[in-house]
Amino acid sequence: MAVVMRMAVGGMTCDSCDVHVADALRSAGAVSASPDWRRGEAWFTVDESADVGRLAESVRDAGYTPSGVVPLAAVGQASEAAGSGPGYDLAIVGSGSAAFAAAIRARELGARVVIVERSTIGGTCVNVGCVPSKALLRATETFRQAGHHPFAGVETSASAVDLRALVAQKDELSRGCASRSTWICWASTGST
Ligand SMILES: Cc1cc2nc3c(=O)[nH]c(=O)nc-3n(C[C@H](O)[C@H](O)[C@H](O)COP(=O)(O)OP(=O)(O)OC[C@H]3O[C@@H](n4cnc5c(N)ncnc54)[C@H](O)[C@@H]3O)c2cc1C
Repeated sequence: MAVVMRMAVGGMTCDSCDVHVADALRSAGAVSASPDWRRGEAWFTVDESADVGRLAESVRDAGYTPSGVVPLAAVGQASEAAGSGPGYDLAIVGSGSAAFAAAIRARELGARVVIVERSTIGGTCVNVGCVPSKALLRATETFRQAGHHPFAGVETSASAVDLRALVAQKDELSRGCASRSTWICWASTGST
């Protein structure tokens, strides 16, 4: 059975350090590895029989300072214990931006992920937050600039706003983003 682990790693200062630490972990037996120099840690997946001391040694040999390895989850444990169907290692409640970030990271680490949503796929950002608000702000800016700009000799004019059409376009944009989120969601669950 595979186990997801976290290792504190001192001395990482840039993206290249992420690559070096990942290489060190893989060369010592990690199936996958995701170091993060900003957090000063590396998440990785190993077989449960892996020699943790060897993993730390490999990271030390690469010039960094490992200072603690903590097991986070046993990948596949729940599904094997249940003994039926493919099962999941991680259930995420909600399908907003945070859920997608968690799902993508968990999939990188080899976990099987399911997202549970009680309302609209995509959450606040794509449905009522960032995406629609920026679409309307940009439309407003375009209308304003059409009627008011500082350039001599450039004649433009702003006529009426068809609010119904504008809102329909904004809704279509949100729907498109939400359905792309659904696609990412399926990809994240690994169950397409
Ligand atoms: C008008 C507006 C503009 C914004 N503009 C920006 C911007 O430009 N840039 C930016 O970075 N941020 C912006 N934000 C903020 C951004 O939208 C949020 O920070 C972000 O969407 C939060 O993501 P989240 O995953 O934490 O929560 P949400 O996106 O709210 O997702 C939570 C999800 O969980 C679901 N849920 C909750 N409880 C349950 C349950 N019990 N069972 C199942 N599902 C459940 C909800 O239905 C929802 O879909 C804006 C927000 C608003 C309102």
